[in-house]
Amino acid sequence: MESIIAELKQELVVTCKMYENRCQELEEKARESKAHLVEKTKEVEFLLADSKKKIKELEENSKLKFKNWENKGLKLKVLADAADNYHKVLAENQRLYNEVQELKGNIRVYCRIRPFLPGQNQKSTTIDYIGESGELLIVNPSKQGKDGHRMFKFNKVFDQAASQAEIFSDIQPLIRSVLDGYNVCIFAYGQTGSGKTYTMSGPITASMEDWGVNYRALNDLFGISENRRNSFFYEVGVQMVEIYNEQVRDLLVDDGPQKRYPLCMSSTQPNGLAVPDASVHPVKSTSDVLQLMHVGQTNRAVGSTALNERSSRSHSILTVHVRGVDLKTGSTSRGCLHLIDLAGSERVERSEATGDRLKEAQHINKSLSALGDVIFALAQKNTHVPYRNSKLTQVLQSSLGGQAKTLMFVQINPDVESYSETISTLKFAERVSGVELGAARSNKDGRDVKDLLEQVAFLKDTVARKDEEIEQLQMVIDLRTRSPMLNNDRNAMLIHSSSPGIPCLVGTARLGPQLSSARLVISTDKAPSEPDNSFQFSENHCMANGGDKDQKLQADAYLVGFRDVDLEDKLSEISDSVISVGTETDGSVSSSTEFGVFPESSKPVQMSKGKM
Ligand code: ADP
Ligand code: MG
Repeated sequence: MESIIAELKQELVVTCKMYENRCQELEEKARESKAHLVEKTKEVEFLLADSKKKIKELEENSKLKFKNWENKGLKLKVLADAADNYHKVLAENQRLYNEVQELKGNIRVYCRIRPFLPGQNQKSTTIDYIGESGELLIVNPSKQGKDGHRMFKFNKVFDQAASQAEIFSDIQPLIRSVLDGYNVCIFAYGQTGSGKTYTMSGPITASMEDWGVNYRALNDLFGISENRRNSFFYEVGVQMVEIYNEQVRDLLVDDGPQKRYPLCMSSTQPNGLAVPDASVHPVKSTSDVLQLMHVGQTNRAVGSTALNERSSRSHSILTVHVRGVDLKTGSTSRGCLHLIDLAGSERVERSEATGDRLKEAQHINKSLSALGDVIFALAQKNTHVPYRNSKLTQVLQSSLGGQAKTLMFVQINPDVESYSETISTLKFAERVSGVELGAARSNKDGRDVKDLLEQVAFLKDTVARKDEEIEQLQMVIDLRTRSPMLNNDRNAMLIHSSSPGIPCLVGTARLGPQLSSARLVISTDKAPSEPDNSFQFSENHCMANGGDKDQKLQADAYLVGFRDVDLEDKLSEISDSVISVGTETDGSVSSSTEFGVFPESSKPVQMSKGKM
């Protein structure tokens, strides 16, 4: 029994021990769990705080974004409104832009001086000074220190170094006008070899850098029409005709010269085509144009003269027709760009032409003269403009005058051999540019500089001239004292010797003093009622009477005591004055056609010599 009790006690102790151990284990576990739970709670609390923070951030973010969207929405609305007004703004822009062009003058004359060619003597040049505002001072190499200088003024003068890109940048705005429905004529005028073709087309194997006005203009048209493609649709078509011996021919027929025929003209075509029978070729890219021009240039009539074998004896007219459709309103506009490489303006003797060549030269002279008359009449805002006097002016009629813009490149050779042609060319240009009325005047603010420079040149010459005049007067007085009868007859002959087209001197016996004193009275014997055939008039004089009269003048002059050279000086001086009111010569009285380039003013004109 006792052993059982002892055994039970033992067992109880063991069980107690086990129980205690178990309790300890459980307590341990409970502690661990609690610690773990505390840890977890902390973690969760941290996560909760973090989440709360993120929610707050997100809330703020979304508020910000919402605000941004609100702003963007506003901007979008502004844009939408602007898009609505775009057409109105564009139209206004085009209107203002063209007004600016008009303020610059609808007739502009730019002079470009060709660089010396390889082998030319660069030292002997006729170019003395080129001003920033279009002044050009020409020096006569054979009259150093005397009447050796003459000043001209144009809208701009480009010197020998001017690049093709520079030339184009100045006319680029005019090209834009064509897309806005305006008509534009760009001419190159000058003697053969002065760079007309170079300016208009560029050299034959031209890289893009050397491209002339033609290619650049078309390239530009395609560029601008591409930029406006969302608002406008443009169609571009090209015609190329030449005027040779007063006949208009299509240059873009590909089966040779046989198919070239004289074409009729129309000024009433609704599509604006002045030569409706000439083929119109749609073009979409500059490479299309390059191909067409190659055909045109191959077909162009060229003749051979002593002056330049490749001299072009025809006017070539590249016409670019542009039709624009406003995609929003559906309205259409038509603009026309004429790019004209004129035939050489040199006078007939210089190229020693006879027969067919003489006929070509007469036709060229007639049409250039008519062109000068038309631009002159337009610049003077005459009610009658003599378009009908040549095919050239007929073809271009709708694009000369009115809202149309005209730009003439006057090309000059810098070498001394070309002096008289240079003067002749510049006088033509001066006539068409110098008289422009209205807005274009504001473009000529360099006038004072011109006047001053001219006065300087004039004063330099005056001393030498005075001496000579005294000497000449002395000779006339001597002659008078020796033979009074002869003297009277000579005066009469000189007064009556003026033929159509040659200015007559009033009171020739007082020629010397009049030239040096304040006023010089010049008149022509052309009837005031003479119609627009002024060239015909001049040509008749040149071909039929010119030689005789000139000889008579020289003979008369010899009798009153002027040497040939003196007479030439005097006539040159007189002609120079007359030129600025409508006739031209370089002072060489033996030139037979030079008077034909400009018609004389129909009224006697008084010039103030002192103002020179
Ligand atoms: P035109 O057409 O007036 O008869 P061209 O354009 O044929 O004259 O020019 C005569 C020559 O002078 C050509 O060999 C031409 O390449 C060159 N020439 C003309 N102008 C320039 C210029 N600005 N720069 C370089 N060469 C020129
Ligand atoms: Mg040429």
